[in-house]
Amino acid sequence: MENKTESQQLRERLLNIRKNGWDVVDAQQEQAIHAYSEGYKVYLDRGKTERDCVSYTVELARQAGFVELERGMSLTPGMKVYRVNRGKGVNLAVIGTSGLEQGASIVASHIDSPRLDLKPVPLYEDSEMAFLKTHYYGGIRKYQWVAIPLELRGVVARKDGSVVQVSVGGNPGDPVFTIDDLLPHLGAEQSKRPLGEAIPAESLNLLVGSRPLKGDEGSDRVKLAVLSMLHEKYGITEADFLSAELEAVPAFNASDIGFDRTLLGAYGHDDRVCAYASVKAMLDLKQAPARTAVCVLADKEEIGSEGVSGMQSAFFDTFMEDLCDSQSVPLRACLEKSFCLSCDVTAAYDPNFPEVYERNNTTRINYGVGLCKYTGARGKSGASDASAEAVAYVRRLLDDRGILWQMGELGKADQGGGGTVACYMANRNIDTLDAGVPVLSMHAPFETVSKLDCYMTYAACLAVYEG
Ligand code: MN
Ligand code: MN
Repeated sequence: MENKTESQQLRERLLNIRKNGWDVVDAQQEQAIHAYSEGYKVYLDRGKTERDCVSYTVELARQAGFVELERGMSLTPGMKVYRVNRGKGVNLAVIGTSGLEQGASIVASHIDSPRLDLKPVPLYEDSEMAFLKTHYYGGIRKYQWVAIPLELRGVVARKDGSVVQVSVGGNPGDPVFTIDDLLPHLGAEQSKRPLGEAIPAESLNLLVGSRPLKGDEGSDRVKLAVLSMLHEKYGITEADFLSAELEAVPAFNASDIGFDRTLLGAYGHDDRVCAYASVKAMLDLKQAPARTAVCVLADKEEIGSEGVSGMQSAFFDTFMEDLCDSQSVPLRACLEKSFCLSCDVTAAYDPNFPEVYERNNTTRINYGVGLCKYTGARGKSGASDASAEAVAYVRRLLDDRGILWQMGELGKADQGGGGTVACYMANRNIDTLDAGVPVLSMHAPFETVSKLDCYMTYAACLAVYEG
């Protein structure tokens, strides 16, 4: 051992010292970090909507031996089951060796991301151009969504019960769509408006065509031509938009950022970066864990976790109850002993906007998975404030495995705030702690994360499952 001075020893023993992860990981870990992010990039490109995330997750799970959970099924340790919630959410579980009366180890994240949904009556023509009207979903900064390539993904449910899958703009050779913005030459008045008002929601109209129907003298010839193409390709009519869920999402794929390729840019890191971490960790479980491991991918977090596919839905309770019933354990007895990592992104410190962060209590890029004892706004409004004991449990869990982590809050106390699914898990009498990947440009069409933090979040999920 090198000779350390007394003050050096004191520093190491007493101070909460956090190091840049790249100064800590070895060559082998570095390789694992980059390998992991390649798999994550595929997940991002395949899963640009919650429905896409679900189908790809199910594909991965089935390959790994997961089977659909059926009510009344007998479940033995090591069994792998999943259940899909209306195509927009999915829960997975690996049955543990100890009974569910010992509780479950849960990781919950969300797979919906901010975007532009089509309105029920979207298609119209103006000045011989066809547009689709959108209604924004989640907390977007509208000015970021104009003049970028967008693709359309989702479903059209026809009256006869058939469902048509739509995906245009994501495959090589596809056309894309866009929302036009004002040219600077004529933007003097617009530029004087506050950022939040410069682009009104009703101007977020997707440009989808410009060629009039040939040999027709009527009105709306471009609109009719577009409808005719949609009918030919998908067999749908204008009325079918009424029962559709079509989402305009950025038409670019995930890519490495920086000369050193340490960062990852993509649409939808919030919260697919944690969703993938929790899924991958579940697929990588080598043997039956002691406690049953449960992975929850929920929808609708960005608009309050409401509705049948959100975290507040009884879908989760029903899933857990079906697991518990197989062991004759009351659901409440299982939940009160369970632990949940609410795995969602947090705001990384951004040196370009230092004024909104409190430096001592913010997460930083490359410092590992970010724990948040509480989220909420101002005086912790709407927060699930994890108990000191729950935080200590996770500190121990992560430190024992050498997983890099940090603690932070989402910005300065008076600056704003945010929430996650944590409160809905905690309301169910489950000890819950928020943790996730620090993100730059959160909710932008192109968000940035650190590969190292992604990997550490995966490692944290694995640690929770293994207990
Ligand atoms: Mn989120
Ligand atoms: Mn969000």
